[in-house]
Amino acid sequence: MLSLRNIEKSYTTGAFTQVALTGINLSFRENEFVAILGASGSGKTTFLNIIGGLDRYDSGDLIINGKSTKEFSDLDWDAYRNNSVGFIFQSYNLIPHLSIIDNVEMGMTLSGITARAKRNKALTVLERVGLKEHIHKKPNQLSGGQMQRVAIARALANDPDIILADEPTGALDSVTSRQIMDLIMEISKDKLVIMVTHNSELAHTYASRIVEFRDGEVIADSNPLEEKEINAEYSLKKTKMSFFTALKLSATNIKTKKGRTFLTAFASSIGIIGIALILSLSNGFDKQIKNFEAGTLSTFPIMITQTTAEIDPEVLKQQRNDMLGLSKDEDDYPNVNVIYPKEPMSEKITHTNIFTDEYIEHIEAIDPKLIAGISYTRMLNINLLKRQGDTANLVKTNPMNFRSFPKTLAPKGPSFLERNYDVLAGTYPKEVNDLVLIVDKKNGVERNVLQAFGLDYKSESIAFRDILGYELRVVLNNDYYKEEGALFTINGDPSNLIDLYNKESTIKLKVAGILRPKREVKVSIFPPGFAYSDELVEMIQKDAENSEIVLMQLVSDYNVLTGEPFDITSPEDLSSKTMLLSNLGAYKTPYMISIFPLDFDAKDQILAHLDKYNVGKAEEDQVIYTDLAGTVTEMSGSIMNAITLVLIAFAAISLIVSLIMVGIITYISVLERTREIGVLRALGARKKDITRVFNAETFIIGLCSGILGIFIAWLLIFPINNFIEIKTDLTNVAQLNPLHALGLILLSLLLTILGGTIPAKMAAGKDPVEALRAE
Ligand code: ADP
Ligand code: MG
Repeated sequence: MLSLRNIEKSYTTGAFTQVALTGINLSFRENEFVAILGASGSGKTTFLNIIGGLDRYDSGDLIINGKSTKEFSDLDWDAYRNNSVGFIFQSYNLIPHLSIIDNVEMGMTLSGITARAKRNKALTVLERVGLKEHIHKKPNQLSGGQMQRVAIARALANDPDIILADEPTGALDSVTSRQIMDLIMEISKDKLVIMVTHNSELAHTYASRIVEFRDGEVIADSNPLEEKEINAEYSLKKTKMSFFTALKLSATNIKTKKGRTFLTAFASSIGIIGIALILSLSNGFDKQIKNFEAGTLSTFPIMITQTTAEIDPEVLKQQRNDMLGLSKDEDDYPNVNVIYPKEPMSEKITHTNIFTDEYIEHIEAIDPKLIAGISYTRMLNINLLKRQGDTANLVKTNPMNFRSFPKTLAPKGPSFLERNYDVLAGTYPKEVNDLVLIVDKKNGVERNVLQAFGLDYKSESIAFRDILGYELRVVLNNDYYKEEGALFTINGDPSNLIDLYNKESTIKLKVAGILRPKREVKVSIFPPGFAYSDELVEMIQKDAENSEIVLMQLVSDYNVLTGEPFDITSPEDLSSKTMLLSNLGAYKTPYMISIFPLDFDAKDQILAHLDKYNVGKAEEDQVIYTDLAGTVTEMSGSIMNAITLVLIAFAAISLIVSLIMVGIITYISVLERTREIGVLRALGARKKDITRVFNAETFIIGLCSGILGIFIAWLLIFPINNFIEIKTDLTNVAQLNPLHALGLILLSLLLTILGGTIPAKMAAGKDPVEALRAE
């Protein structure tokens, strides 16, 4: 079943070539106990390793079951070692960190036998060698004889045809030696056992055939076999180690050096901690900036006015750079004793925006999702009456203390007021005729505003309940004005308009809520005062545009309230007439449009939309807007990004350090586990499997360091946030994004595996024979 034909083998180290075997011709029977005797260095081990497929012959042929091995691939040899050969070594070569039973199972694990079959088989062979009670012990808890029994059990486990033993009793006392020899002899009844020994007494007692070696040659054979050709088909089952087995192997190995693994994982986690913290911080700052931006956006909307003072962009840029401390000019702070007269700094160019219907439609076409609110300012005077006891008077409003609040276009999400204001009392406005009183952050409202609206402006404070539900009434133009000849006058006694107040047709307004800017809205959007819905003013305007007074004024070239004539040819008078008509509500186009974008991205989109209107239009038909917020915050985001990048670059250096460290640690581990590599190879593990074992080890380290890093970073976030809160008043700035955490764990895994790749490849490349020789 096994024959060697003219096998030659020599080792070359440097210039020196050592011939180990010189043309060996031997054949073996299917079951016999062959003892190989010979002096040290005569080539016995080399011979055994070649038969076992651990080492390759230089020339000749090894015939297994009638099949030449000349064309065997590495994988064929791996399979051959796994299926057909069992090795027993002088130094046992058990894997120290695996239990006895796991050691015995390893060969079967490699050949992919199911867990249950494996366990049964392992128990059977361990029972056979008399070690059933010790299966959960580690090798170093056994005596030498017991360890050799384990090795024998392992050799038998995969049911090989050939058992190769290299001085199996070399390290044992004579009594134990005999027990082991008995066991091996017992095995040889149904297997081919080839045992190397230099103890000729043992050989003669136990072996059925003795072959003697000298200087790489067979010099005697007590029972030679006449070679006869057997052409049996020989098939090998390929071996394969699953990644799980590799993981288990590495996990048990790592368990034996917990301290070192922890330190390694900790050291490599430092880079992860750094990056995690930086990301958390920049995350948090980003959010703060976003909040700040949203705040400035609600304070400084995009404004489109009928007359625009267009500020020179160069001047704006200069101001911004001054604010951020970015401008530096050689001519600044001259050390002279003169002054320099100069031109006015900002040359204002005025431009008249014409709000055509087309433009209003263009504004209405903005995606509502981009807008937090939109507000129209109109020149319409509202005939607003307040009542005090039996008298009613006109409320003298001005756009500062009585104006419309922005309306929200998006059907979903919070309204503009909900976004920016807290309700102190009552509710947000719900009906068209709901008013809100907006106060400042100290709940303040100017006395003159309160006075104008008929509230108790002299007292120290006014209770919410005295304001909620407070009623005001709007009198429509046709009721408010009465025609007297060619002129219009107020329809009643201006000092007491109670009759007008009580008219059925008035629009009754009531204060529905008292609102205060939210804390994050740093600058108040409106000065404190009353605000109404845009729908209300639209309603009033619609009525006004068909009112008698408006229709009359449109066709008259004199002021219908005073009788003063207008000179239509003079632009000044023309604009006075237009102004009067606007005040009376003749025009539905607003005087000013303020757009409050949702965020900075939305603003960019809105601006792009607005710019589109001007494309291809003549200069005077273009509509120009003012974007104050843009100039304020343009740079904050990009500066933050730059800082983050620099910090991440620093943290990346520590990641590279940990990468190198993991490489070194894996390399040391490879050195430490060289013998294990040899054993695994002898059991039939492929090169690939060895790579897997070490990749599994780095996988575990990488996973540990990633998780540890994220955990430590998470812990550190608490004191960091505390510190930031003490220093700046900002709460919960650092926030670890779970996605970042996951990404960093993956990064840690990737980097450690990368770091371990070269050592793992080195391990796989190790010559099994040399690996087994390693100390
Ligand atoms: P034995 O087992 O009979 O003591 P070996 O088979 O180990 O002998 O060695 C046979 C000869 O080959 C010895 O001279 C030894 O020095 C040499 N030899 C064995 N392995 C190597 C090797 N890997 N490199 C160089 N020389 C080797
Ligand atoms: Mg030897």
